[in-house]
Amino acid sequence: MYEFSFFVTQYKVNMTSLYLLLGGNIGEKQKIFSKVWTSLNLKIGKIASQSAIYETEPWGFESPDLFWNQVLELSTNLSPEEVLAQTQQIETELGRIRKENQYSSRLIDIDILFYGNQIINQENLTVPHPRIQERKFALVPLCEIAPELLHPVLRKSMRQLLVESTDPLKVEKVTNFPEAHS
Ligand code: ATP
Ligand code: CA
Ligand code: CA
Repeated sequence: MYEFSFFVTQYKVNMTSLYLLLGGNIGEKQKIFSKVWTSLNLKIGKIASQSAIYETEPWGFESPDLFWNQVLELSTNLSPEEVLAQTQQIETELGRIRKENQYSSRLIDIDILFYGNQIINQENLTVPHPRIQERKFALVPLCEIAPELLHPVLRKSMRQLLVESTDPLKVEKVTNFPEAHS
Protein backbone atom coordinates (compact mmCIF):
# COMPACT_ATOMS: atom_id res chain seq x y z
CA MET A 1 0.00 0.00 0.00
CA TYR A 2 1.43 3.32 -1.04
CA GLU A 3 0.81 6.49 0.77
CA PHE A 4 0.54 9.63 -1.22
CA SER A 5 1.17 12.98 0.32
CA PHE A 6 0.23 16.15 -1.37
CA PHE A 7 2.07 19.24 -0.46
CA VAL A 8 0.53 22.51 -1.25
CA THR A 9 3.20 25.15 -1.51
CA GLN A 10 1.94 28.54 -0.57
CA TYR A 11 3.31 31.35 -2.64
CA LYS A 12 3.13 34.83 -1.33
CA VAL A 13 1.92 36.85 -4.26
CA ASN A 14 2.46 40.50 -3.60
CA MET A 15 2.00 42.55 -6.71
CA THR A 16 2.73 46.25 -6.63
CA SER A 17 1.78 48.93 -9.13
CA LEU A 18 4.96 50.47 -10.49
CA TYR A 19 5.22 53.58 -12.67
CA LEU A 20 8.30 53.97 -14.86
CA LEU A 21 9.36 56.83 -17.11
CA LEU A 22 11.26 56.00 -20.29
CA GLY A 23 13.37 58.64 -22.01
CA GLY A 24 15.89 58.82 -24.81
CA ASN A 25 17.01 61.37 -27.37
CA ILE A 26 19.63 59.64 -29.53
CA GLY A 27 19.78 56.44 -31.56
CA GLU A 28 16.89 54.57 -33.15
CA LYS A 29 14.24 55.49 -30.61
CA GLN A 30 11.52 53.24 -32.02
CA LYS A 31 13.76 50.17 -31.88
CA ILE A 32 15.10 51.03 -28.44
CA PHE A 33 11.63 51.58 -26.95
CA SER A 34 10.39 48.27 -28.43
CA LYS A 35 13.33 46.45 -26.86
CA VAL A 36 12.70 48.11 -23.51
CA TRP A 37 9.04 46.99 -23.48
CA THR A 38 10.07 43.40 -24.17
CA SER A 39 12.76 43.44 -21.47
CA LEU A 40 10.49 45.07 -18.89
CA ASN A 41 7.73 42.51 -19.48
CA LEU A 42 10.26 39.73 -19.10
CA LYS A 43 12.29 40.98 -16.16
CA ILE A 44 10.05 43.22 -14.07
CA GLY A 45 6.39 42.50 -14.77
CA LYS A 46 3.52 42.83 -17.13
CA ILE A 47 2.84 46.25 -18.61
CA ALA A 48 -0.64 47.11 -17.31
CA SER A 49 -1.02 50.51 -18.96
CA GLN A 50 0.99 52.85 -21.10
CA SER A 51 0.85 56.47 -22.12
CA ALA A 52 1.42 57.67 -25.65
CA ILE A 53 4.95 58.54 -26.59
CA TYR A 54 5.73 62.25 -26.28
CA GLU A 55 8.36 64.25 -28.08
CA THR A 56 9.89 66.62 -25.55
CA GLU A 57 12.52 69.30 -25.31
CA PRO A 58 15.63 68.41 -23.28
CA TRP A 59 15.27 69.35 -19.59
CA GLY A 60 18.34 70.66 -17.76
CA PHE A 61 20.62 70.90 -20.79
CA GLU A 62 20.67 72.13 -24.38
CA SER A 63 20.54 69.81 -27.39
CA PRO A 64 18.90 69.85 -30.82
CA ASP A 65 17.98 66.16 -30.31
CA LEU A 66 14.46 66.00 -28.90
CA PHE A 67 13.55 63.27 -26.40
CA TRP A 68 10.94 60.60 -26.55
CA ASN A 69 9.24 60.04 -23.20
CA GLN A 70 6.64 57.53 -22.10
CA VAL A 71 5.13 56.46 -18.79
CA LEU A 72 4.36 52.77 -18.21
CA GLU A 73 2.46 51.17 -15.35
CA LEU A 74 3.67 47.67 -14.53
CA SER A 75 2.50 45.10 -12.06
CA THR A 76 5.54 43.65 -10.30
CA ASN A 77 6.50 41.32 -7.48
CA LEU A 78 10.07 42.63 -7.35
CA SER A 79 11.28 44.87 -4.52
CA PRO A 80 12.16 48.52 -5.35
CA GLU A 81 15.90 47.68 -5.15
CA GLU A 82 15.40 44.77 -7.55
CA VAL A 83 13.48 47.02 -9.94
CA LEU A 84 16.35 49.55 -9.89
CA ALA A 85 18.93 46.82 -10.54
CA GLN A 86 16.88 45.47 -13.46
CA THR A 87 16.20 48.87 -15.03
CA GLN A 88 19.90 49.77 -14.79
CA GLN A 89 20.82 46.46 -16.37
CA ILE A 90 18.40 47.08 -19.25
CA GLU A 91 19.87 50.59 -19.74
CA THR A 92 23.38 49.11 -19.93
CA GLU A 93 22.33 46.29 -22.28
CA LEU A 94 20.85 48.87 -24.63
CA GLY A 95 24.12 50.77 -24.70
CA ARG A 96 23.69 53.55 -22.16
CA ILE A 97 26.99 54.98 -21.04
CA ARG A 98 26.92 57.20 -17.95
CA LYS A 99 28.61 60.54 -18.48
CA GLU A 100 30.33 62.80 -15.95
CA ASN A 101 27.98 65.75 -16.47
CA GLN A 102 24.62 65.02 -14.94
CA TYR A 103 22.31 65.83 -17.82
CA SER A 104 23.35 64.87 -21.33
CA SER A 105 22.03 63.05 -24.39
CA ARG A 106 21.28 59.39 -23.78
CA LEU A 107 20.06 56.31 -25.65
CA ILE A 108 17.75 55.27 -22.83
CA ASP A 109 16.90 56.34 -19.29
CA ILE A 110 14.45 54.43 -17.11
CA ASP A 111 13.35 56.25 -13.94
CA ILE A 112 11.23 54.82 -11.15
CA LEU A 113 8.44 57.36 -10.60
CA PHE A 114 6.22 55.52 -8.09
CA TYR A 115 6.33 52.12 -6.38
CA GLY A 116 2.83 51.66 -4.99
CA ASN A 117 2.48 54.48 -2.48
CA GLN A 118 5.80 53.73 -0.82
CA ILE A 119 8.17 56.51 0.20
CA ILE A 120 11.83 55.49 -0.10
CA ASN A 121 14.79 57.68 0.81
CA GLN A 122 17.95 55.67 0.27
CA GLU A 123 21.32 56.82 -0.97
CA ASN A 124 20.83 55.25 -4.41
CA LEU A 125 17.04 55.33 -4.60
CA THR A 126 14.45 58.04 -3.94
CA VAL A 127 10.80 57.18 -4.57
CA PRO A 128 8.64 58.93 -5.61
CA HIS A 129 11.21 60.29 -8.06
CA PRO A 130 12.10 63.69 -6.55
CA ARG A 131 11.68 65.79 -9.71
CA ILE A 132 8.29 64.60 -11.08
CA GLN A 133 6.56 67.86 -10.09
CA GLU A 134 9.19 69.95 -11.94
CA ARG A 135 8.84 68.10 -15.24
CA LYS A 136 6.00 68.36 -17.70
CA PHE A 137 7.54 65.48 -19.68
CA ALA A 138 6.67 63.25 -16.71
CA LEU A 139 3.40 64.91 -15.64
CA VAL A 140 1.72 65.01 -19.08
CA PRO A 141 2.03 61.23 -19.73
CA LEU A 142 1.21 60.50 -16.06
CA CYS A 143 -1.98 62.56 -16.39
CA GLU A 144 -2.91 60.63 -19.51
CA ILE A 145 -2.95 57.25 -17.71
CA ALA A 146 -3.35 58.14 -14.01
CA PRO A 147 -4.75 61.65 -13.51
CA GLU A 148 -6.11 60.85 -10.04
CA LEU A 149 -2.97 59.09 -8.78
CA LEU A 150 -1.99 60.71 -5.49
CA HIS A 151 1.62 61.70 -4.88
CA PRO A 152 2.29 60.15 -1.46
CA VAL A 153 4.66 62.93 -0.33
CA LEU A 154 3.07 66.04 -1.89
CA ARG A 155 -0.48 64.71 -1.32
CA LYS A 156 -1.61 66.06 -4.68
CA SER A 157 -2.96 64.30 -7.77
CA MET A 158 -1.07 64.22 -11.05
CA ARG A 159 -3.79 66.44 -12.49
CA GLN A 160 -3.19 69.04 -9.81
CA LEU A 161 0.60 68.89 -10.17
CA LEU A 162 0.25 69.47 -13.92
CA VAL A 163 -2.06 72.45 -13.37
CA GLU A 164 0.53 73.93 -10.99
CA SER A 165 3.50 73.18 -13.27
CA THR A 166 5.55 76.11 -14.55
CA ASP A 167 7.78 74.01 -16.81
CA PRO A 168 7.73 75.83 -20.19
CA LEU A 169 9.33 73.05 -22.26
CA LYS A 170 7.45 71.52 -25.20
CA VAL A 171 5.71 68.14 -24.69
CA GLU A 172 3.90 66.85 -27.79
CA LYS A 173 2.30 63.50 -28.58
CA VAL A 174 4.00 61.36 -31.21
CA THR A 175 1.24 60.02 -33.43
CA ASN A 176 1.19 56.80 -35.45
CA PHE A 177 3.34 54.76 -33.12
CA PRO A 178 2.62 51.07 -32.33
CA GLU A 179 1.54 50.17 -28.80
CA ALA A 180 3.70 48.38 -26.23
CA HIS A 181 2.69 44.74 -26.24
CA SER A 182 2.18 43.20 -22.82
P1 ATP B 1 17.20 62.43 -12.92
O1 ATP B 1 17.17 61.47 -11.76
O2 ATP B 1 17.22 63.89 -12.51
O3 ATP B 1 16.13 62.17 -13.94
P2 ATP B 1 19.10 61.01 -14.51
O4 ATP B 1 17.96 60.10 -14.81
O5 ATP B 1 19.86 61.56 -15.66
O6 ATP B 1 18.61 62.24 -13.63
P3 ATP B 1 20.85 58.91 -13.82
O7 ATP B 1 22.26 59.19 -14.18
O8 ATP B 1 20.04 58.04 -14.73
O9 ATP B 1 20.11 60.28 -13.53
O10 ATP B 1 20.77 58.22 -12.39
C1 ATP B 1 21.58 58.62 -11.32
C2 ATP B 1 21.25 57.77 -10.08
O11 ATP B 1 19.96 58.08 -9.59
C3 ATP B 1 21.19 56.27 -10.31
O12 ATP B 1 22.45 55.69 -10.17
C4 ATP B 1 20.21 55.79 -9.22
O13 ATP B 1 20.87 55.10 -8.19
C5 ATP B 1 19.64 57.07 -8.67
N1 ATP B 1 18.20 57.10 -8.41
C6 ATP B 1 17.65 57.62 -7.28
N2 ATP B 1 16.33 57.55 -7.31
C7 ATP B 1 16.00 56.97 -8.51
C8 ATP B 1 14.75 56.64 -9.11
N3 ATP B 1 13.58 56.90 -8.50
N4 ATP B 1 14.78 56.05 -10.33
C9 ATP B 1 15.96 55.80 -10.96
N5 ATP B 1 17.17 56.09 -10.43
C10 ATP B 1 17.19 56.69 -9.21
CA1 CA C 1 15.85 60.69 -15.58
CA1 CA D 1 17.74 57.81 -14.50
